[in-house]
Amino acid sequence: MATKNDVLKFIDQNDVKFIRLQFSDIFGRMKNIAINSQLLEKALDEGVIFDASAIAGFSEVESSDMLLFPDLNTFSVIPWRPQHGKVARFICDIKNYDGSQFMGDPRYVLKRSAEKAKKQGYTFNIGPECEFFLFHIDAEGMPTTKTHDSAGYFDMAPTDLGENCRREICMVLEDMGFETEASHHENAAGQHEVDFRYSDVMTAADRIMTFRTVVKIVAQRNGLHATFMPKPIFNDYGSGMHINMSLFKDGKNLFNAGENSRDISDTAKMFAAGVLEHIKGLTAVANPLVNSYKRFVPGFEAPIHIAWSHMNRSPLLRVPAPKGEATRIELRSPDPSCNPYLTLALILEAGLDGLQKKMEIPEPVEINTYNLTPEQEEELNIQRLPSNLYLALEEMKKDTYIREVLGEHIYSKYISAKELEWTKYNSTVHPWEIDNYLTAY
Ligand code: GLN
Ligand code: MG
Ligand code: MG
Ligand code: MG
Repeated sequence: MATKNDVLKFIDQNDVKFIRLQFSDIFGRMKNIAINSQLLEKALDEGVIFDASAIAGFSEVESSDMLLFPDLNTFSVIPWRPQHGKVARFICDIKNYDGSQFMGDPRYVLKRSAEKAKKQGYTFNIGPECEFFLFHIDAEGMPTTKTHDSAGYFDMAPTDLGENCRREICMVLEDMGFETEASHHENAAGQHEVDFRYSDVMTAADRIMTFRTVVKIVAQRNGLHATFMPKPIFNDYGSGMHINMSLFKDGKNLFNAGENSRDISDTAKMFAAGVLEHIKGLTAVANPLVNSYKRFVPGFEAPIHIAWSHMNRSPLLRVPAPKGEATRIELRSPDPSCNPYLTLALILEAGLDGLQKKMEIPEPVEINTYNLTPEQEEELNIQRLPSNLYLALEEMKKDTYIREVLGEHIYSKYISAKELEWTKYNSTVHPWEIDNYLTAY
C-alpha cells in the first residue's frame, strides 16, 4: 500500500501535473474532476469540495457540497495522457461536507460489506470475465452497431480484427498496475473478452471501473467504438460479465473440498445457496438496463434459469473444472453495464447470508436448461430469472436484504430512477411495433 509521502514524492519526481479524482455515480458510471498536482497534499488531508447535485442519484440541490477523498491504494499514472506533464488518478471516497460518510457513494456500500466479511475472517476474491463489442464509427464520428470483424469464438487474425485493440487494452491495464489473465475473441462478430486475475472484491470492483474506461479509450484511439451494452444485436450473443468467486480465510480457499475432490466444499455450497436464494432480488442491480433482459434468451450462453451445475454452461451458477486452491464458483448472470460496487456487495452478502443460515443448495442440473419444457421446470422446481427490468425491480422490493445492503439512500434513488427508466421505455413506440402492426392492423 502506497503512503501519502510515497505518492507526493512520486508526483514531484515524475512530472505529474494533473490529478484526476474519480468516483462512481450510483449507476456505476465513472466521473472525475482534475486538480493541479500542487493541491494533492491538501486534497489528501482535507478532501476536495465538489458540487454533487448534478450527479445521478447523489443528492438534492439543497445539500450538494461534498468532499472527495483520494484513496491512496488506487493511485496510478494515466498511460494514455501525455507523458510530459503527466496525469495521474485516484478513485475517491465521498464524504458530506460536515465530514460524515456520504451514504450515496456506491464504493462505500462495497467497503461496508467487505469489512463485514473481514470481521468474520473472510476475504472475498473475484475474477471477472468482461465481454464487450467493438463497433465501427460512421463518417460523422458517431458509433454504429456495425461490427468490425466477422470472427467468432477464439478465432485468430486475420479474421479477428480486434487483436491489436485487445493487446493494447491489456498493456495499458498492466501499466496501471493490474494483471489480466487472458483475452480472446468472443462468439459474436466484433465481440471480445478480457479476463482478470482474481483479487479481493474491492480491488476487483475498482478494476472493473478502470477497465471500462480503458477499453473505451483504446477503442477510440483505434477508430472504433467499444460498448458494454449487454445486447446490442438482436439474435446474436450478448455481453455478460461472469463473476468467478471464492472465499478465503487465513490464506486458505474455503471453497476447496480437498486435494482429491472434484466437488466444492460445504461452505461453497452454502455460499452458492445464498446467492441462488437472493439472485432474483439482486438482478435489477446486476442487470440494470432495459436492454439487459434481452440477453436472457435461450441459445446464447446467457442464463435464464436459477440453477447450478458442474459443467453445463446454460445455468446461472457453474463450478469450473479447476479444483484444489483454485476452486471457485462462476456466477453467469451479471452483465458489464452494472455498477460493480453494488453488484459485488450484494453477491457477497447473499453468500454470507447462505453461510449464516446454513442454506441448502438444490440438486445440480446437469442438462441443458434451454431445452426444459414448462412442465419439466415445474417438476424439477427450477425457477427463472426475472425476464424484464420491471419484474426485476418488483423482486428487488420483495427481498429485504437488498435494502439493508444498499442502505436507504441508494436503495430508494436506484428504484425510483429505474422505475422511471422502465416507464419511459414501456411507453415508447419501438420500431418493432411499427414493423409488425402498422400495416397488419
Ligand atoms: N456472451 C455470453 C453471455 O452472455 C457468455 C459466453 C461465454 O463466455 N461462453 O453471458
Ligand atoms: Mg470466459
Ligand atoms: Mg465469455
Ligand atoms: Mg465464464
